Amino acid sequence: MKKIAVLTSGGDSPGMNAAIRSVVRTCAYHGIECLGVYQGYEGLIEGDFKPMDARSVKGIINKGGTILKSARSKGFRTEEGRKKAHKQLIDAGVEGLVVIGGDGSFTGALIFNQEFNFPVMGIPGTIDNDIYGTSHTLGFDTALNTVVDAIDKIRDTASSHNRLFFVEVMGRDVGHIALNAGIAGGAEEILIPEEDLGLDRLVESLNRSRKSGKTSSIVIVAEGDKIGKNIFELKDYVDENMEGYDVRVSVLGHMQRGGAPSCFDRVLASRMGVKAVESLLEGETNYMVGLLDNSIGVTPLEKAIKGKSKINLELLRVSDIMST
Ligand code: ATP
Repeated sequence: MKKIAVLTSGGDSPGMNAAIRSVVRTCAYHGIECLGVYQGYEGLIEGDFKPMDARSVKGIINKGGTILKSARSKGFRTEEGRKKAHKQLIDAGVEGLVVIGGDGSFTGALIFNQEFNFPVMGIPGTIDNDIYGTSHTLGFDTALNTVVDAIDKIRDTASSHNRLFFVEVMGRDVGHIALNAGIAGGAEEILIPEEDLGLDRLVESLNRSRKSGKTSSIVIVAEGDKIGKNIFELKDYVDENMEGYDVRVSVLGHMQRGGAPSCFDRVLASRMGVKAVESLLEGETNYMVGLLDNSIGVTPLEKAIKGKSKINLELLRVSDIMST
């Protein structure tokens, strides 16, 4: 293999730049060429490529977002689009593709491989940590630190005014961010998609906290939580059924995706990039690199796409005990 291309696709996450840097420098280390593809699969279809050498990725390890830009491509969902993408890669002499993204991006990569027998390797980049085959996705740790920092600040105002805050964090299908950041931020309750606590139990638990002497409370709510239709309805319900608290809502939103990657994410990205390129060079294809038991390993893309990343039940118990 003499030339590899790398792209970022789907939602961006902190650490993607560090992963691009690692892929580019690993190629340089092994004496092969690397092409950066702009705008994810959209750029693959358009042939929006740029040769990248070791120096071209200087000064990006500490930057959030992705210098290659990311996109959601409708064209790549069609056979015609993928045919064009394949032709662009062949014309450019590319022999392997590293895709940094989430499970949607991996599904596209796998279909592309099945149609054209083109070697592909995935690096999991998403803040949600919702991918099977890795204990941590790129950006998860940074997002947790961002959320904990926000909770700490919200707590200052909550305790000054005896307020109850509902804080919404990202996680449409999984509660990893809510559960971990909730414990670290000392939340009284954590509502996640995997567990339906029930509105009555929530009010009961908040009342118990109040009776035990708490004058302010923070409840972390994952976007995909099942018990309220949305966080504002949760607020209304608690407003109507609890006395004594001034209830407020804070939706953290897209700030969770930004910021300089944490040390953990930078190291993880560097390790994953090396593994992705070296796996391609060893003739492997259709794998996702991941962190398993503190070692970088690979999981078949199909498994990574279909498997469920499970919530840590021990953390749920710890969170229950901590809210006593
Ligand atoms: P995130 O977890 O942040 O949403 P993701 O990689 O899952 O990231 P998606 O929008 O689901 O994000 O997918 C990214 C891109 O991958 C899509 O815009 C599309 O181009 C491609 N893709 C997804 N599913 C398929 C598919 N079934 N066939 C072909 N391409 C696909």
